[in-house]
Amino acid sequence: MTSLSDLPIRDDLRGREPYGAPQIQVPYALNTNENPYPPSPALVAALGKAVEEVAGGLNRYPDRDATVLRAELADFLNLDTPGAGLTGRQVWAANGSNEILQQILQAFGGPGRTALGFEPSYSMHPIITRVSGTAWVDAARDDDFGLDPARAVAAIEEHRPDVVFLTSPNNPTGTALDPAAVEAVLDAAPGMVVVDEAYAEFRRAGTPSALTLLPGRPRLIVTRTMSKAFAMAGTRVGYLAADPAVIDALLLVRLPYHLSAITQAVARTALAHRAELLGTVDALRAERDALVTWLRDLGLTVAASDANFVLFGHLPDRHRVWQTLLDHGVLVREVGPPGWLRVTIGTPTEMTAFRAALQAAL
Ligand SMILES: *Cc1c(COP(=O)(O)O)cnc(C)c1O
Repeated sequence: MTSLSDLPIRDDLRGREPYGAPQIQVPYALNTNENPYPPSPALVAALGKAVEEVAGGLNRYPDRDATVLRAELADFLNLDTPGAGLTGRQVWAANGSNEILQQILQAFGGPGRTALGFEPSYSMHPIITRVSGTAWVDAARDDDFGLDPARAVAAIEEHRPDVVFLTSPNNPTGTALDPAAVEAVLDAAPGMVVVDEAYAEFRRAGTPSALTLLPGRPRLIVTRTMSKAFAMAGTRVGYLAADPAVIDALLLVRLPYHLSAITQAVARTALAHRAELLGTVDALRAERDALVTWLRDLGLTVAASDANFVLFGHLPDRHRVWQTLLDHGVLVREVGPPGWLRVTIGTPTEMTAFRAALQAAL
């Protein structure tokens, strides 16, 4: 049997582990931060119709620049963040925000260059960074998972990274960044600053988006996704807002026709039905806040969350707790610092199952 090490694979990929959130069939999947509510029958019908409409033209390549979708995403961001004033020229879309991040690293990272992040944070940032041949520096978050502006600036001055990743609300901790920290990083960074806002729609009222910082800052990139609040993880659409010059840079590295006609049609239909899709966000937020209180009443430590998941600890043997939950049909994510577990907010039924299973595990 041939094994990976027998192949002439790149030296820097030897011994690496692939991204690995387990995909196990369980009654209660609370491990990958999806929105638990599937599309309604009416939306399923609309999605089917949209696919049917493009199906007759599938002999042709799609709009390479996804012009209409980008304009509609800009409209959505202007509703999300009043005053953002974005046009389609400032928005770019790809197959999940992971592909967006990959294109950013291909354009602004690469051999001899460095990207810096503050961990614990999204595990794909270092993976995509290294795969693009870019060196990764972990500058570590504060003990409360926040980011002290002065410490962040000191790390940037020490390492002079070509790309900085900020995640707000952060995954796996749920922490939203202090806007002062984002601004301090922008002022200090010599290269591009990516604010990954995959969970922005779940943020608590009064928490600003980095979109408000875009005017006059051509090295800022704000990334978003339809995979989380928008309940479209299966569609694979992520997007960014930035200066048009940033998009010109990404055009140099993207694959031609990267976003299929079907993906564009489905994403546009989802945007047109945003009232339904985002209509679950308030309920998920309320469920999240109730879970935080319940976990704290159990005596656990819980990170403040502006997202649709909660990180809790400190568990002397977190793997045993994870396994006991799984034995009860509840899959959560074993991620974050030792002693912590992350649970995605699901439906009330799913949360009842989680609570019962956790009580059995503790
Ligand atoms: C889930 C997640 C993403 C989303 O990735 P997609 O490729 O858009 O599905 C990006 N960033 C963070 C921090 C995430 O947790």
